[in-house]
Amino acid sequence: MKENILGIDVTPLDYGELISSIMKDIDQGRKAFIVAINPEKIMKAQKDPDLKKLLNRATYQIPDGIGVIIASKLKGGNIRSRVTGIDLMMKLCQKASQNNKSVFLYGAKPEVVEEARNRLIKQFPGLRVAGVIHGYENDQEKILSTINLAKPDILFVGLGSPRQEYWILENMDKLNVHIFQGVGGSFDVISGNLKRAPEALQKIGLEWFYRLIKEPWRWRRQLVLVSFLYRVLLKRA
Ligand code: UDP
Repeated sequence: MKENILGIDVTPLDYGELISSIMKDIDQGRKAFIVAINPEKIMKAQKDPDLKKLLNRATYQIPDGIGVIIASKLKGGNIRSRVTGIDLMMKLCQKASQNNKSVFLYGAKPEVVEEARNRLIKQFPGLRVAGVIHGYENDQEKILSTINLAKPDILFVGLGSPRQEYWILENMDKLNVHIFQGVGGSFDVISGNLKRAPEALQKIGLEWFYRLIKEPWRWRRQLVLVSFLYRVLLKRA
């Protein structure tokens, strides 16, 4: 049963449960769409019914932001640990390399997505990367036909949010792909162009703080956490 936070569904599965469910989707020929949920997206969706519908149409809404965990706790829910988009992507790549499934990377700058591919193959020997396309390609027909020729099991889309989610929903039916995951700026991290917070900070729930220091222009986006938690509390009262 999914948990509902301010109108948005969140999947209460951990990494292991998600990976086995996703592998089952592939083996049984089902299509699935994974979206990362954080307070910023939930708040945006309050004012944007299309975005709300879109987020709720995903197969798996992973609890990516620490704010989602706090909200679940406040509401008496069961979600206790984050499932981040990038960590789920890495685990899916590992599983794919062990099970002979293929992946495709679409998004980010040309040199970034190339480097992300190289590093993934280095980290997971045997990983089949069926192809990559950078995120500044404008020819939609070319994008769709390239992916369809490659027939990947899993497509990671890193165009930023909510653009990547709209793109996935619009094109899911046209693509010869089982699993679609929106991964935001993950290719930038995997390629080594953007550093993630040290693990110790991630563990104590302060990854957002590290990002604030590294990318201070994002402060406005982070401020939303405060009004988000306030709304969750108000709803509970
Ligand atoms: N991007 C892209 N095409 C565009 C605009 C952005 O491929 O037209 C990529 C950009 O290079 C970066 C990612 O989308 O890799 C956006 O990352 P961000 O961390 O902003 O994602 P968000 O936080 O919005 O999920």
